[in-house]
Amino acid sequence: MASLARLSLNLATTRLRWGAIEAIEGAARAGLRAVAPWRDLVAKDGLEATAKAIRDNGLGVSSLCRGGMFAAADAAGRQAAIDDNRRAVDEATALGARSLVLVVGGLAQGSKDIAGARAMVADGLAAVLPHARAAAIPLAIEPLHPMYAADRACINTLAQALDLCDSLGEGVGVVVDVYHLWWDPDLEARIERAGKRRLLGFHVSDWLVPTTDLLLDRGMIGDGVIDIPRIRGWMEAAGYDGAIEIEIFSAENWWKRDPDEVVAICKERFETAV
Ligand code: ZN
Repeated sequence: MASLARLSLNLATTRLRWGAIEAIEGAARAGLRAVAPWRDLVAKDGLEATAKAIRDNGLGVSSLCRGGMFAAADAAGRQAAIDDNRRAVDEATALGARSLVLVVGGLAQGSKDIAGARAMVADGLAAVLPHARAAAIPLAIEPLHPMYAADRACINTLAQALDLCDSLGEGVGVVVDVYHLWWDPDLEARIERAGKRRLLGFHVSDWLVPTTDLLLDRGMIGDGVIDIPRIRGWMEAAGYDGAIEIEIFSAENWWKRDPDEVVAICKERFETAV
């Protein structure tokens, strides 16, 4: 069983009903120790006010979600993405986040060139990395399930993400999100390859059968088919002892419920399903 002290509430889980500060206060009320805010929620409540709420409630920030989205049809678009990622690094610093999560982006608009998109991602990361290193904010690449390759992330396996890390050097690592990676027959070996140095985050939710929406129908941990304790075991065997973020996109179920109740169920399930 994972210690409850490692549970971090990814604010995607309550995003329909709670803004950033409401969620920070809700997490603190429930006795959680950490949160993972999203930039759009932080922007709504204000960066300084959100940072103050985090400090006032004594919470850690396991990560800031998210930067990335590097591919664009022209040079101006690619530069705008790089500038936005540099701002995201600054926001992560202001919030005291342990890393900046990157959903790297899919194809450039109108393009069928996935290899080209992957090259833009590598170039974009290389352009942001010096700023991230100077700020001591690690860049955490989150490989997404291949069903999102066109529109969200053209990095789809842990092996791909690790190859990118190896080409970029220090200051970059990976997030293992069970929803995206549970199906990978080589997942155990790839987590081992990543090792403590590259493993920057661990996201949990569950894969429902059937799944009614590819983006917004994730399950509460324990309600689906992912063997989360087994994957957590692989993470720990590789040296990961950081936060475990519960991140549930669920437009028709969990997002509609009373968020205090959702957080209470997250805590309960964390002790049995993680
Ligand atoms: Zn995730």
